[in-house]
Amino acid sequence: MNRVAARGGMREESDVPTPRRYPLIFNPKARSQKGGRVLRFLMDHANRFAMYATNHAGEARELAARFAAQGESVVIAAGGDGTLNEVVRGLAGTPTILGVLPAGTMNVFAREMGIPFDSLERAFAVIERGHIREVDLFEANGWPFVQMAGVGFDAQVIEETSWEAKKMLGPLAYLLAAVKVLGERPPVMEVICDDGRREEGVAMLAGNGSLYGGQFKFFRNADNSDSMIDVLVYKEAGYKLVLDSLRGLALGGIDLMQSVSYFQTEAFTVRAARDVPVEVDGEWIGRFNEIRFQETSSRLRVLAPDGPLAGSFAETMKSLLSWPRRQPELQATRSL
Ligand SMILES: [Mg+2]
Repeated sequence: MNRVAARGGMREESDVPTPRRYPLIFNPKARSQKGGRVLRFLMDHANRFAMYATNHAGEARELAARFAAQGESVVIAAGGDGTLNEVVRGLAGTPTILGVLPAGTMNVFAREMGIPFDSLERAFAVIERGHIREVDLFEANGWPFVQMAGVGFDAQVIEETSWEAKKMLGPLAYLLAAVKVLGERPPVMEVICDDGRREEGVAMLAGNGSLYGGQFKFFRNADNSDSMIDVLVYKEAGYKLVLDSLRGLALGGIDLMQSVSYFQTEAFTVRAARDVPVEVDGEWIGRFNEIRFQETSSRLRVLAPDGPLAGSFAETMKSLLSWPRRQPELQATRSL
């Protein structure tokens, strides 16, 4: 029933019975300049949320799983992509719907879904509107992710960026770690798809959505509801990897670079000559020499605006293109 309503697009009433109070999970220690604003917003709407502050890693997942088991229709994740991934893991395989109040530095998944990431009021309005979208949920060695995953270079940068450095330096901490990793001997790995395709490389990125690391469109053909995962295999390591990514983005697609293969597949395995670091949704999950990527048995239900036209890219284009033109039209109408 909800699928039909979600596809209808024009329906204004909520697909979800509005709970008296939404269970809301947030990490009070998350590093973000938005911390104070988030707390103020939560306090201002305290009668709408049953709030749960997490104290340790893994707790957001446990809480989300418990709410789902209790039959809650919606669980809200208020935080960055780390908190979000934990809540997604807790909700995976359940019918409970995810609501997102983006309060992190990157908010990649919120951007992907067209959920306002710069206004908590507007993001909450999306939740209240109750429009459900279903997205594919993939997993890496059994660890679910909703946006993207990486094997090798980017996971190692995350691995080597300490919590203290992030607190102190913000995004610059990743840059410093990247400079260190770039000087090291890269791993050799093979991506073996179930459809028979094989690619050798030194690093791999997988995208369920199109965006990576903020607003960067790394996976330009990605559709997070087509049961396919987009894969980028890097053939060149070191500074060439980074420069080709930047040049590719500037030209309109990383896959336009000869040092990168880009394809879509349903499931694949990465085999590496040694243990390599793996990240999902920006969270380091460990080192493995074999990593299995496949779709999980069920999709994730998310409260989000209708379709891709409400996405951040369209919003940006609208504000860039139509805003200056609209002004004279408005004035003309008024003078009639
Ligand atoms: Mg897809």
